[in-house]
Amino acid sequence: MCIMPYEPKKVENKIYQFWEESGFFNPDKLPARHKKPYTIVIPPPNVTGELHIGHALNATIQDILIRQKRMQGFKTLWLPGTDHAGIATQNVVEKKLRKEGKTRFDLGREKFIEEVWKWKEEYGNKILNQFKKLGSSCDWSRTRFTMDQGYSDAIKEAFLHYHKKGWIYKGKRIVNWCKRCATSLSDLELEYKEEKGNLWFIKYPVKDPPAGEAGGGFITVATTRPETMLGDTAVAVNPKDKRYKNLIGKTAVLPLVNREIPIISDILIDSKFGTGAVKVTPAHDITDQAIGEKHKLEAIQVIDEKGRIINSPEKPARSGFATGDAGGYNGLKIDEAREKIIEYLKCQNLLEKTENYTRQVPKCYRCSTTVELIPSMQWFLKMSELAKLAEKPVKAGKIKFHPKNFEKPYFDWLKNIKDWCISRQIWWGHKIPIEGETDVLDTWFSAALWPFATLGWPEKTKDLKNYYPTAVLSTARDIINLWVARMIFSGMEFMKEIPFSHVYVHATVLTRDGQRMSKSLGTGIDPVKLIEEFGADAVRFGIAFQIMGNQDIKFVTDNILMGKKFCNKIWNASKFVELKNGKEKYDGKKPYAKNKADKAILKSLEKTEKSVSKCLENFEFGKSAHILYDFFWHDFCDKYIEESKKQESENTNKILMYVLLGSIKLLHPFMPFITEKIYQQLPLKNKKECIMIEEWL
Ligand SMILES: [Zn+2]
Repeated sequence: MCIMPYEPKKVENKIYQFWEESGFFNPDKLPARHKKPYTIVIPPPNVTGELHIGHALNATIQDILIRQKRMQGFKTLWLPGTDHAGIATQNVVEKKLRKEGKTRFDLGREKFIEEVWKWKEEYGNKILNQFKKLGSSCDWSRTRFTMDQGYSDAIKEAFLHYHKKGWIYKGKRIVNWCKRCATSLSDLELEYKEEKGNLWFIKYPVKDPPAGEAGGGFITVATTRPETMLGDTAVAVNPKDKRYKNLIGKTAVLPLVNREIPIISDILIDSKFGTGAVKVTPAHDITDQAIGEKHKLEAIQVIDEKGRIINSPEKPARSGFATGDAGGYNGLKIDEAREKIIEYLKCQNLLEKTENYTRQVPKCYRCSTTVELIPSMQWFLKMSELAKLAEKPVKAGKIKFHPKNFEKPYFDWLKNIKDWCISRQIWWGHKIPIEGETDVLDTWFSAALWPFATLGWPEKTKDLKNYYPTAVLSTARDIINLWVARMIFSGMEFMKEIPFSHVYVHATVLTRDGQRMSKSLGTGIDPVKLIEEFGADAVRFGIAFQIMGNQDIKFVTDNILMGKKFCNKIWNASKFVELKNGKEKYDGKKPYAKNKADKAILKSLEKTEKSVSKCLENFEFGKSAHILYDFFWHDFCDKYIEESKKQESENTNKILMYVLLGSIKLLHPFMPFITEKIYQQLPLKNKKECIMIEEWL
């Protein structure tokens, strides 16, 4: 018998088109037996995105669940869509403009946004098409975008709802600020670069020093940012630090400006850093801001949005501790101010020493400019009530995390939650729906409404009634707080109902030796290339095979190759069974076991079905894949098919058909293309239009 190997390239696109034409991705078009809804909303990839291995993993997981539930008779909806991804998208279009020698400011806001929409129309569906390549059975007729008209209405409704409740307010907050892009950045938008710099040890005179103090009338602080001294409002030490016991509660005099500032103690101070005493600049440092709030310190902003010094006195009042003109910093760039300040301190004998110091400097992820922390007026959403809403259903077990150990950090985060800064100073996004406001909303504000805004909220739609709440949210661990928590309280607030019952936290895919995959480092694995080379089924199966419950997957491409070999094994077995069976149409009835081998294979199939069903209920994807592999390869091919070659019996042929059909049904959620192809070729009575809507065993 000469069998051609399975050729996914010849099969996959055609099969996918056939599925799309069948209409069965749309739950409303499924046969009547599909009654009970089962919904998954896709974590919307960025419109700028390209399928990476994490997407491929998560899409495989979701499609396995959806396809199995569809076969089990559920009215399955897997709702796709994309996120407008504020700054990421704005960045891509700005880059494009730069090539033409233009900036967004040349175009102006309105024209620029038009450009972004044009870009979105042209390239924004790329990633969704890549999801199709993987075999994802999403209902594309329901595809949403976080800035489509209906979704924008939902955002407005949600914002105004909070506003009416008095939960939205304006306040000053330290933000990461890129002076070149003139925008605040989220922590996720920073890239850290190691830079060699200095640690300066600066002597601050102490007013009325206790007699015999080791510092000789000074307290020395170590800092990497002497220019922010102008905004110091305290010196802090750890309360347990014996060196400074007698100085706590005293007053220091800030050099340069001769302002009196208190010496305080706070447990946040690391007594091992520098001298153990640090300057506190609440306006330009996150930790200092927290200390400042606790100790009711003034926050003096000394760096502005253009990265220049402000608010420093032109001529500081002279005191007995420091002399000379230290003024004239206003308007200087940070580097210039730093140089001038160090020079002055040297002259005044206030610079004790300088050490080399390497620090991680935050850079703007799109233009690499050093990011400054500056206070700025922002919009906030009060979290106190919403945090309770996020906590309650998880505490009550209505929403379950898998694995469960993700619940603790979730609760901890909620307990220590701060009000949510929801404004961003960029152009691409949802404008804050208040007259005259130019800021846009944080991308996560729109993502928080995803499970119900995609179904038509705030309108009372049929979809909302039918498909909300959803069943499972499958997501990465790094966005549990940013996204999952916010979807939960949004669901509770607006729908009075949980958004999903299960949160499946999938593993992070690392390189073979446990490194982070990164496109820029060239350590990433491109799933689209893998699909080209091995076929989508092999990629899906190879990925699923590695999901063994660990929080990291050290990705081994050999598993994809194994998936390809497995495809060939399945293909060859099906050809053998077809050949044995001839043209006779099989009625699908369970055949009798007439000998030991018959009995063993029927029993094994039954056991496999039970185990796989149970594993999938428990989100054990890898275990299911292993069970299916072992069953098909060893029990069916190695044993039963080999045995059957010695026999010429109609009953044996029936068993071969029965087991093959059962196997491809169980394998379908994992390897949808090849199983569909084989199903279409099998001579069956009562054949369904496609295996996708066949009954799970
Ligand atoms: Zn920038």
